[in-house]
Amino acid sequence: MSQLSQLIEEAYTGLKSLVIGLGVTGKALCEPGVTVIYPKEEVDNLATFRGHVELIGKDDDPAVARCVACGACAKACPSNCISVLCPVPVKEGEADTGKLGPAPQKGSKTPAQFIVDYSLCSLCGQCARACPVDSLRFCHDAYTVAFDRKAFQFELVSRLRQQAEQALEGGEE
Ligand code: SF4
Ligand code: SF4
Repeated sequence: MSQLSQLIEEAYTGLKSLVIGLGVTGKALCEPGVTVIYPKEEVDNLATFRGHVELIGKDDDPAVARCVACGACAKACPSNCISVLCPVPVKEGEADTGKLGPAPQKGSKTPAQFIVDYSLCSLCGQCARACPVDSLRFCHDAYTVAFDRKAFQFELVSRLRQQAEQALEGGEE
């Protein structure tokens, strides 16, 4: 191939690529935008969004978690971000200090505290899959922000209680 025909072929390829690129850009410019300018606008398609895990309440009492404090989710979590804590049984003759220990604690049927460190979570879903009573789900909150990692440690037992109280107050209005 002569030098001239090689130059013509390269120019043709470059021009073709430019026209295709402009076509893609032009098409995207005419389509409706898929991003929003937060906080002026918020997205409304979060139904399948995975935020941090949270506890699911009982059907007859939404303020109380279905959780039976078995500790299976904490064991299944590859990132060690779940701590399920239950009252440590008091030995005979000892005073009850209210000490909490990791689940399963003998006799515990419900957690006293359920802590998730969202800053470590990989959203793998192993915890929800391991739960024998379907007590875990992903929240749809896409707007959790903080300057401090500690702000991503959530205590889910009290969170569930607060959510149930807010839902009750909202329903009473
Ligand atoms: S989603 Fe995965 S990483 Fe996150 S808490 Fe559950 S098991 Fe752990
Ligand atoms: S696996 Fe389910 S029932 Fe067991 S501690 Fe975790 S949330 Fe509770």
